[in-house]
Amino acid sequence: MTVTTCDFCAFRSATFLYTVPEENIPLLVAEGQSSAIALPADDGLWAACVICADFVDRRDMAGLLTHVLASARDRRVAFVDDPLYLGLLIGKFAPLMIEGVGKVQL
Ligand SMILES: [Zn+2]
Repeated sequence: MTVTTCDFCAFRSATFLYTVPEENIPLLVAEGQSSAIALPADDGLWAACVICADFVDRRDMAGLLTHVLASARDRRVAFVDDPLYLGLLIGKFAPLMIEGVGKVQL
């Protein structure tokens, strides 16, 4: 059996898979020192552990961000306190907080 790690907190194994409708997948652009850079394409698929799935189901963006950032801090992710990282997470998670998201058990 393949174990999929949670795409949100990257800590626990995933139990659910969310699917964001293609029209809601964000085309994120990060502004650097002097230019804007397109980010890698998002496939709209999000594997989630039970904790992250609970935040998504309740559309609790603040709770999800707090949990994900705490996990990143535990894993000593160097850019965890960079405001741009927070902005990117919000941009990527926002489509999961609106209508039309699919959810199946893995
Ligand atoms: Zn998780």
